Amino acid sequence: MLRQVAESVLVHESEFVQSNAVVVQGRAGVLLIDPGVTGSEIDCLANDLHELGQTVVAGFSTHPDWDHVLWHAELGEAPRYGTDRCAAAMRDLLSDAGAKARIADHLLETEITGQVPLDLLGLITGLPAETARIPWDGPQVRIIEHQAHAPGHAALLIEERGVLVAGDMLSDVLIPMLGDLNSINDPIEDYLAALRLLEGVAGDVDVVVPGHGSVGGADQVQARINQDRAYVHALCDGRDPGDPRIGPSAKPGWEWVSDVHTGQLQSLAQRSERVGTSR
Ligand SMILES: [Zn+2]
Repeated sequence: MLRQVAESVLVHESEFVQSNAVVVQGRAGVLLIDPGVTGSEIDCLANDLHELGQTVVAGFSTHPDWDHVLWHAELGEAPRYGTDRCAAAMRDLLSDAGAKARIADHLLETEITGQVPLDLLGLITGLPAETARIPWDGPQVRIIEHQAHAPGHAALLIEERGVLVAGDMLSDVLIPMLGDLNSINDPIEDYLAALRLLEGVAGDVDVVVPGHGSVGGADQVQARINQDRAYVHALCDGRDPGDPRIGPSAKPGWEWVSDVHTGQLQSLAQRSERVGTSR
């Protein structure tokens, strides 16, 4: 079901990790950001669009994680954009013949195993780094690229509508996930730098749509930036973050986020040992 969150901006929320697909109404059709997760949900979205008399004229994936780069034939053959780095990460992944099988294996542990359409995964057209806006015929959508969480991650600001599509940041249910700590140069600084970029536009935002979690209003934008920043600082210092998204205050069904936190603490400790000894 599509829910309007601002003029000509609609959101389709998945049951799986509260993943949000975003639809932006343009002049000749819609822009579809992070289409969704399961085949039946993406079909449902395609049907909703069909009933509204809309076709997808452009897609965009906020970052190169499997749950943000899916597609289904029902959505048609519009160009599917992402940042150049996002597209490169996907080309890299798809050059490995076993990659989709590994994703399918990983999904065996979830309630959506066998329900995720992987055929068209990751076929992203890269937009050069200097591209300021998504090339399409609709409200201007500014690309805010950064390197937090995943390479070539982009938040999108739908300027005329005051909507920030945050990708996998600013969630009320997921803590900041720093990504692969073995491959990232400086995951803490990358994350803080990305938060500063988002903070730079926060004053223009009335609605924030995280990749996973609840859509927030104007009062939530700075609050979520502060919450993510406080978490990253605490993680970096090895302090208890006292974060409502982990521990006993976590929403039912989200207890696993605490395990993610523990994993990040361990990886960071190992990383500082490694970096320390190699200097
Ligand atoms: Zn995600």
